[in-house]
Formats: sequence, C-alpha cells, structure tokens
Amino acid sequence: MATVGERVSGLDSLRGTTPAKPHDARAIAALAANPGCARRALMDGAGVDKDAAARHLGFPAPFGQSPFAITRGNAFEALVKADGCAELLRLLRDVLRLPIDEVAYQDVQNVGAHLRHAHTRTLFDRAARGEQGTLYDHPLLSLKIAGHTAFLEPDVVAFQHGGRFHIVEIKSFAVIDGQADPASVSAAARQAAVYVLALRTLLEELGHDPLLVAHDVVLVCPENFANRPMATLVDVRRQLAVLKRQLARMTSIDRLLAELPEGVSFDLLPGEDGAPTRSAEALAEAIQQVSARYAPDCLSTCDLCFFCRDEARRDGASDQLGRQVRDELGGVATVEEALALADGLREPAPGQEEIARLLRDAERLRRECLA
Ligand code: SF4
Repeated sequence: MATVGERVSGLDSLRGTTPAKPHDARAIAALAANPGCARRALMDGAGVDKDAAARHLGFPAPFGQSPFAITRGNAFEALVKADGCAELLRLLRDVLRLPIDEVAYQDVQNVGAHLRHAHTRTLFDRAARGEQGTLYDHPLLSLKIAGHTAFLEPDVVAFQHGGRFHIVEIKSFAVIDGQADPASVSAAARQAAVYVLALRTLLEELGHDPLLVAHDVVLVCPENFANRPMATLVDVRRQLAVLKRQLARMTSIDRLLAELPEGVSFDLLPGEDGAPTRSAEALAEAIQQVSARYAPDCLSTCDLCFFCRDEARRDGASDQLGRQVRDELGGVATVEEALALADGLREPAPGQEEIARLLRDAERLRRECLA
C-alpha cells in the first residue's frame, strides 16, 4: 500500500498545475451521495475543480445558490442568531428539553482566520471538561480528505450542555404544515453529518470520547410562510455511516490510482489569465479513463452531472435509469442488453440467468397488460 505522502503526490500530479479546490462541507457531504463512483472519488481526492472542468468540457452545471437565496439564507441566519442567539436558545430549550435559562455565547468568527482553528480546539477541549451550557458560533473544524486537510467553516453553531454537543444547522428552506422538501432535508442531514464527524474527530484527537457529539442534529428552518424559526431533531446516523465508508474508500484510493493508465492527468493547464489552455477533447479523453457511476441523483450533487449523463446516454448504460433499477439489473450493463434479454433475443451470459428470467416475466406481463 502507498504511503500517505506517495498517495498525496499521486493525486497532486493527477491535478497537475491547476490549483487545488479546497473541500467545503457541502462538497464533502456530496461525496456520500454517490459512494460507488471512482471518477468522483479520484477527482475529489485530487482536489480537481470539477465545476471548472465541466465548464471547459462544455457541460456546465447550474449549481450554486441564486443571490436571492443567499440573501434570504443570511437574513434568516441573522434572525435566528440575533441578540446572542436568544431565539435559538428558546428553540433549543424546547427541542432538547433544557432546564436552563441562559448559556454562555462564544463568537469564534471574530477570532483572526489563522488562529480560529487553534482557538476552536482550545474551546472544545475546555467545553468537553466543563458543565456550563455554551453556544459556539462559527467554530472552525477540520477533516482529512485523502491526505489533505479540509477546513470547514460552518454557518452552524455547536451547542454544548452537560458535556454533550449538538450540531445546529440553520437552513432557509421552509417547513410547511410540518413537511419540508425531502431532498433539501437529506442534503442538510448529509452536511450536518460532516460537522458531526469533524467534531467527533476533534474530540478524539483531544483525548475525549467522540460520542459526546450527539448523532441527533438540530435543524432550524422557517415555519410555514412566515420567517418564524422552528427546530427539529434529525438523526444523521445513516449519513454518518455512508460518509465514513466513503472517506475510508478515499484513503484507500491507491488502487484507483494504480489502475490509471500511465500519464493520465486532469490538468486544465491554466494560462496566465487562469483560463484553461488544454483542449476540451483531451480533457474529456482523460476523464473517461476513469469509470463513472452515473445516476439521476448526480444531477443535484455533482458538477460533472451533464457530462456523465451524456456519456451514459451514448453508452446506453443502465445507470441512467437510476440506482434502484441499476442495482436490480446487477450485471446487465446496458439498456439494449436488458431489452434483448427481456425479448429472449439474447442468451443470458453465465450469472445472468436469474435476471434474464425476471426480465422475460416482466416483458410477458407488460404485453398481457397492453393486450
Ligand atoms: S456526475 Fe459523474 S463523476 Fe459525478 S458522481 Fe455522478 S457519475 Fe460520478
């Protein structure tokens, strides 16, 4: 197995002269959305700017929040945190059943950028020993991603009371009649799981029990059509398990690196003005050397989604039908192959007998229904 240094240097040379794109919590959370994709694991491990690559390939993805959504999000966060987080404390008392009226408030954001991480460590070390309830506004956490340290500047507050920490995630999507958009809730849960893992890692490094960080995170959203905040507890154990598996996979990225043909690089070769000078065709050819696992969910989580969707369509891959269908079709790589098996026009290969029988049965039922 390669050493960490060898792995980092292998990933760095894969990225080439293009500056590394630091991981933020949103990007780390998205890793857990498609853990089986080697292309994404390698590109993220190498810190490749996938957004720049997708634009250069001619497949830009419309990611990123609109200025309106960002302003709305900032205004809602300011409302929740106004007067030393008075409104937030009211919500926390309710949702965590706290018997206390007051807590200490630490605004870590006001500490100089270069000192923030060290200051955060000191504060959490003290907090893990103390009993006083304390709110931490904008602590700076870190997480190792494939040998690189990613610093996470969450717009979250970690709340400590009686030695237990809770991550608080403030989001501006509305909860209407007790229901929120499931995709937004899943994305928020995946992002909060990144903070839980980062805080658990920090406590472990400091010699404390990582399980002092609760797996229930507090999600704060506006209620109905008013801006009044409401809080709910969200269990992120499943998101944590997927995230840990994916990060472990990224640290064992050596196999993926070893399988790459000699000389493959995702370098955009930026010129003096920062614009890529490499031809889009050469970049596409290099990216296609690494297998992808496209699924429709990629459209909301990965910058390369339109590029990979186009590739999956051209290959007729069964991946484009979604993860559930792909998993059920296990071993049948293309839509054409699945249709031929269903029509009985193709003999099943060894191991495909069962899925071929199911496909023929499904096709017979479909014909009966249509008739
Ligand atoms: S869009 Fe492509 S690279 Fe990104 S996760 Fe999906 S298949 Fe992988």
